[in-house]
This record gives sequence, structure tokens and C-alpha cells, in this order.
Amino acid sequence: MKFCNFHCRSHLRVGAITGDHVVDLAAAAAEFRNLKIDPELFHCVDCLFYFPKAVTAARKLVNAAAALQKRSPKWFIPLAKVRYGPPAPNPSKVLCIGQNYVDHCKEQGVPLPAVPELFCKFATSIIGSGEPILLHKATTKVDYEVELAIVIGKAGKNIPAAKAFDHVFGYTIFHDVSARDLQFASKQWTRGKSPDTFAPTGPWLVTRDEAPDPHSLAIKTWVNGDLRQNSNTCNLVFGVPALIEFLSQTITLEPGDIIATGTPPGVGCFRKPPVFLKPGDVVRMEIAGLGALENPVAAET
Ligand code: ZN
Repeated sequence: MKFCNFHCRSHLRVGAITGDHVVDLAAAAAEFRNLKIDPELFHCVDCLFYFPKAVTAARKLVNAAAALQKRSPKWFIPLAKVRYGPPAPNPSKVLCIGQNYVDHCKEQGVPLPAVPELFCKFATSIIGSGEPILLHKATTKVDYEVELAIVIGKAGKNIPAAKAFDHVFGYTIFHDVSARDLQFASKQWTRGKSPDTFAPTGPWLVTRDEAPDPHSLAIKTWVNGDLRQNSNTCNLVFGVPALIEFLSQTITLEPGDIIATGTPPGVGCFRKPPVFLKPGDVVRMEIAGLGALENPVAAET
């Protein structure tokens, strides 16, 4: 299943993608009364993470909707008309991993890390696909980083690697926007990594059954149509099970939490000469099977 969180007037609604349309799940549940699905199951996207029956119910609604496509009801929305919000907007934490691609470490001339390098972002950094990345007045060196993100579906502490996938709800694309001047001004990276809007995610969430091997996905970034990052998640130093085992040794992972797994080579600050984002740029990121995350860049006013 592919789930999204989309804008409808002043609020966000939960959708499931089928072909080139989104099914508004609460509205479809109200329409297909014979299926006896409570529309409140889709009150917000977090319901998907906490109630496994919501995913089962969504599958039934998508199947029912597929049979009715020609009627074009209001709850069946062409993808081209959808304005996305972030698919996992309320994590208790956003855990990010640095130096986690073999080819990115080579690019910087640094050895592979012995343990995952952990830093954090905040929920106030999160935006959806299409929403603008703000260039804050405090920085002049804002850079892009495409990353595969894990979204947790089942809480856990001390999760062994062999059981890690049981705790994964799904995957999405994560843009680890980074203010390099602030990041490297001190030993702690948080200030440069956590400004508002510095965590675009989306466009949607792909459940783990639809991405059975997260370690063989093409991963790319374009800035204004120019290909800047081009690698594959097979180059991850620490893969999904190793990261979940490591993080959950000290931190309880909770439904809706996001783990960003690090970026491949090609970021702006290591280019010669270095290049940074400017107002009017458009950053497009793709990971095979996970869609495309696209955000314009704007100056803070
Ligand atoms: Zn990163």
C-alpha cells in the first residue's frame, strides 16, 4: 500500500494511492457503508501506525474504489491535483544517521564509521512534497541530501536485527537539508540540521511489503534538472536491521518515528567548487519504488 497525507481546505486527510489517483479513505468509508468500516479509523495518518486494522480496511476500500473509477466521485482525486502534507508528521523523534554510505565516505576521504553516527532533527523541520524549503537568514550555505527513511510501525526496545523488519511500517524519501555553515561551526550538528522546513518527506509512505528489499534501491537528486546524487542503497554501511538494533538499544522506537539512513555522494559542499541552494531552486529526489519528493527553495521573509 501507498499512503499519503493530503491538504483539503484547511486540514489534512489520509489517502491511499491507486494508479494515478488518491482515495480519500474516510470519505470512501462513508460511501461504502456495506463494508462496515468506521471513517474515524482514518481520522489522521497516525491511526495507520497505531491500528493495523486501518491498513487492512484501507486495502478493502481501495479495491472497492477501483471498481467505481468511471464515476469520478469527489473522494477519488487525480494525483496531479493533490497537495501533499508530510506522510509521517508527528514523530516522537527524527533519528538521523551520518556517514552511512560507503561511496559518501570515500568522497570525503574519511574511514567507514565503526558505529552509526547519530544526530537528530525535530518535528518542526518536517514538511511535505511541494512545500517550500526556507533559506533562513542565519545561514548562507544550505545543502541537499537525499535519504531513505524508515517509518516505525510497532514500538520496541532492544530489537534484535533479526526481528527489525517486524517494527517497520514502511519507507519514504527524506531530504536531510543541511546548513553547512551552522553544522560545522561547532562540534554538535543539531543547529545546522534542525531548522524549520529542513526535513521534507514524502510524497507518500510505501508499506514494507511493497519494498521487500530496501537495500537495492536507486537513489537520486536533481537540482533544477541537473543530476547531483546518483547511487544505490546497496552502498549503505549500516542497513535497516543494524540501525534498528543499534538505536533501540537505548531508545524506545515508537509508531510514526522516522529514521533517516544517511546520504550518498554528490552533496553540494563537496563539489568543486562547492554549490549551495538559492531561492527559486527546485530539488527533486527519487528512490526506486518510493516516488519523487520535490520541493522549491525560498528565502525567509
Ligand atoms: Zn544526512
